[in-house]
Amino acid sequence: MKTTKEQQKLELIASLCKRRGFIFQSSEIYGGINGFWDYGPLGTELKRNIRDSWWRDTVMRRTDIVGLDASIIMHPRIWEASGHIGGFADPMVDCRACRKRFKADNLCEEQGKELIIDGKNFKLPEGIICPACESKELTEPRAFNLMFKTFVGPVEDESSVAYLRPETAQGIFAQFANVLATSRQKVPFGIAQIGKAFRNEINPRNYTFRSREFEQMELEFFIKPGSDKEWHSYWVEERLKWYNSVGLPAEKLHKDIHPKEKLAHYASACTDIAYDFPFGRQELEGIAARGNFDLTQHQQHSGKPLEYFDQETNERFIPHVVEPSAGVDRIALALICNAYCEEWVPTAKVQGPVLEAEEGKQPPDGYEARTVMRFHPRIAPVRAGVFPLLKNKPELMNKAKDVFGMLNERWNCFWDQTGAIGRRYRRQDEIGTPYCITIDFDTLEDNTVTLRERDSMQQERVPVDELVARLDPQFR
Ligand code: ATP
Repeated sequence: MKTTKEQQKLELIASLCKRRGFIFQSSEIYGGINGFWDYGPLGTELKRNIRDSWWRDTVMRRTDIVGLDASIIMHPRIWEASGHIGGFADPMVDCRACRKRFKADNLCEEQGKELIIDGKNFKLPEGIICPACESKELTEPRAFNLMFKTFVGPVEDESSVAYLRPETAQGIFAQFANVLATSRQKVPFGIAQIGKAFRNEINPRNYTFRSREFEQMELEFFIKPGSDKEWHSYWVEERLKWYNSVGLPAEKLHKDIHPKEKLAHYASACTDIAYDFPFGRQELEGIAARGNFDLTQHQQHSGKPLEYFDQETNERFIPHVVEPSAGVDRIALALICNAYCEEWVPTAKVQGPVLEAEEGKQPPDGYEARTVMRFHPRIAPVRAGVFPLLKNKPELMNKAKDVFGMLNERWNCFWDQTGAIGRRYRRQDEIGTPYCITIDFDTLEDNTVTLRERDSMQQERVPVDELVARLDPQFR
């Protein structure tokens, strides 16, 4: 269970997210709806940058991976073939006293015990109590399908039932043959997709970490049977590098390797990439070697061949697949938690190092507190703040507008003309803007601006003509 301190840190982050416009509760004016979240102006930019850098690294920078954008509602037989109709269920437990519902495995884990699994049946170990009312009156775990159901067309009967996809992966498998026929790819190659997924989670919790509507970034990398192990290791390392490239430090990332006995029957390996959240170490992404299970299932259920013919070796086979599957919202939350920092910085009155802020204390004499979101420039929601030194000087304003126009055409930038420059810096620090650019009277003379970097707070003069070339590599 969460300790009060961890709870406090998460609450602090949630409150900053609301105050600054990163994340809002969905339908808040109607009291909210559990498990659903809206992203405000900054959260929207953050998520867009996460998707863009994943797409850039996974698809654009490679020649062996192509993209797909499949529909959210697909033929219901897809979910029969994938096993989601039969097996995509969480065992859950109801409290007979307070009527609350819990995920059986979490309930056991939080009370230091393990759920008893016997084939397809589950049983609670002795001594488990309701975490809400402490009653011992709990039902035995029962399977609860996590897919949202809907109806297609005007008639609501069994024949029109459809599902909101619980993962984006199946759209890729179902279009495997079409992509192969049109993209001129050869095994090994991959199909990547970003999109919404929906799961009727029993127990949405830890802020946005477990939601009922979320976004996935999935890659199905199709390979020759037998090369599973090496491609699996390759993708684990590639994905770790990507997490580093968006600013998550190696020491807070972990490889959680699933033991053989816990793997699905068709899988040969699965490694989760986990991050140290304030509420503990939790999965950001799962990387699984799934054999040829999915394509084989779809071939059987659809009756359409999903084999691959290797022209070099004259072999025909159903490719195996390695699947790195990540969640945009979980990555956004990890990046926000990781970026949040409070420190004490020296004012003009004193000289000294930046100090780490101490909880509940005031900064020493000559120092002031600064909240800074240390987002990596690759994913920072605002790339640069642009400030005219004085708003009542038309020539400064015009020049600053030109600079702003030049940058804003390429990146999301922020225009701020009010308050002292120091105050404007602080406002940008708090939302994690990596660079601030001030246009002053010297700019009118020599066409240079002051470029200030967020973390070091260093300032330097840079020619306007060099700004784009200077900043662009930081954002890629
Ligand atoms: P968990 O065990 O946490 O429920 P999972 O192992 O079922 O996750 P996968 O089915 O492997 O998750 O989904 C791949 C990725 O999709 C996860 O690593 C996560 O980033 C994201 N994801 C899955 N479920 C949710 C959810 N309810 N809310 C937010 N993101 C999710």
